[in-house]
Amino acid sequence: MPVIFSHPSSLEHETGFGHPERADRIRAVEAELERRDWLGFERRQAPAVELERLLAVHPREHVEAVRETSARAGAFDLDTPTSEGSWEAALHAAGGACALVESLLDDGEAIGFSALRPPGHHAESTRAMGFCLFANLAVAARYALDSLGADRVLVLDWDVHHGNGTNAIFHKSPEVLFASIHQYPCYPGTGALSDAGSGAGEGYSINLPVPAGAGEPEFCGLVEHVVLPAARRFDPDLVLVSAGYDAHRDDPVGGCTLATESYVELTRQALTLGKPVGYVLEGGYDLDALANSVAASMEALTTGGEPGTHSRGALVEQAATAVGRYWELG
Ligand SMILES: [Zn+2]
Repeated sequence: MPVIFSHPSSLEHETGFGHPERADRIRAVEAELERRDWLGFERRQAPAVELERLLAVHPREHVEAVRETSARAGAFDLDTPTSEGSWEAALHAAGGACALVESLLDDGEAIGFSALRPPGHHAESTRAMGFCLFANLAVAARYALDSLGADRVLVLDWDVHHGNGTNAIFHKSPEVLFASIHQYPCYPGTGALSDAGSGAGEGYSINLPVPAGAGEPEFCGLVEHVVLPAARRFDPDLVLVSAGYDAHRDDPVGGCTLATESYVELTRQALTLGKPVGYVLEGGYDLDALANSVAASMEALTTGGEPGTHSRGALVEQAATAVGRYWELG
């Protein structure tokens, strides 16, 4: 039975009036899933992450900075405030991602979801930013590689923002193929098509910027013609999705135009790799769009289905040329 991880501490990370990354996001997701009887997923409490797993990605100074800043309800930057409850929330958000990976690699589950906050993909190893305190997905990917027998992990990040944290953490690593589709130019400003990784990780970062207004043709075309062919060559043991829902057309933060059904299509595409797939919640700030899109993703994870075909526009051709320097996409 697939598992969805959550924890009440997600509701205790307070970001202040008017902040889009708020506890109501989790309440909206859980209310919608409750209405749909959790779509056949077993609900499980996310444990607090073990310190050792955090320290495999973040230096002790950063972990202490999160603890200390949270204790005094300080802020890392204008976007990234904390409250007294943030420390526990952050520990469980990273712990949920790690528990998800355990359920996939140790318990043999094919799919799963970690639905906690704060999100993680902007957090770098030494820096909290962009609503993110710890790099939840990166901590889980590192754990899969170090302790759960995975040799290669594919990260697919379709949050509307570039996952700069995950990208930086694995920039030099050939163990993680990081593929991100993101609005560009946009926050945080990184993720140009020319950034393919560095050192031994050159070619293992696939950054796919799209202009504001891009929607399902661009996102799904890039996945079909660029990400999936490279991923098949890479042959991952595990697929982790940085599941942000702020590329939805109703999202007040992003400027892209995905529909709720687009996340069904993206999910079907991810499942074609035939590997365990775990979703880790990132952004998504329109409560209805977020809740419905999470539910649609989870339903698609359980039902699968054949993805459609998507045409190769100029954007896909340009991306295929750049990524084709490193991966045989034909
Ligand atoms: Zn985002």
